[in-house]
Amino acid sequence: MFREALDKRAKLGNLPKAVVIVHLYGQSCDIDPILEACNIYEIPLIEDAAESLGASYKGRSPGSFGKIGIFSFNGNKIITTSGGGMLVYDDQTLVEKARFLATQARDPAPHYQHSEIGYNYRLSNVLVGIGRGQLRVLEERVEARRHNFDFYKQALGNLPGIEFMPEAAFGKSTHWLSCLTIDPAAFGANREEVRLALAEEKIEARPVWKPLIYNLFLLTVNV
Ligand SMILES: *Cc1c(COP(=O)(O)O)cnc(C)c1O
Repeated sequence: MFREALDKRAKLGNLPKAVVIVHLYGQSCDIDPILEACNIYEIPLIEDAAESLGASYKGRSPGSFGKIGIFSFNGNKIITTSGGGMLVYDDQTLVEKARFLATQARDPAPHYQHSEIGYNYRLSNVLVGIGRGQLRVLEERVEARRHNFDFYKQALGNLPGIEFMPEAAFGKSTHWLSCLTIDPAAFGANREEVRLALAEEKIEARPVWKPLIYNLFLLTVNV
């Protein structure tokens, strides 16, 4: 389906400059068919792997397949440095440019001059130290999340109208978020009623991301 969308855009002479995929909820997208289509049209693939650190796709880490992979160490991720993130790349020029932009875009001159707009996005040495310490316990964090998921699934998975997100056969999920769908007719309560009942017990739950990609996809296919 993705390949067809690109074929259609190619015919219209309207190919995207880059494709960004988002690995959601602790598992990987099915990268191969997307990467294959991108390669045919020489479109760089960028991976938003913010939620998939510790996951695998055919034995390899999502985030390591595209031209650039992006990981987040925000407070709600599987490991954290309180804020910040990490870029992985296979192109030295690109990463030098990213580093330049992330460190205020100072011109290579002895005096302070900025000819381009830059950003103060550097991760401090202290936070990097914390991040390196956290990386050592990544496996344990993954196992803990997987354990939580199994616990919920065992306790609730057989209730009518409840379906837990399956783990794709091509990889390993960290289950960063435990996601499930509720069929209100079969279950006897809708998503919002369940969320509010959980909140009463001080248990945080929320609807997952709106399927914006799907809308974009339809737009892409319909141009
Ligand atoms: C958390 C998250 C981000 C943002 O990461 P920050 O480090 O907070 O900027 C981006 N994409 C996805 C899919 C995320 O889950």
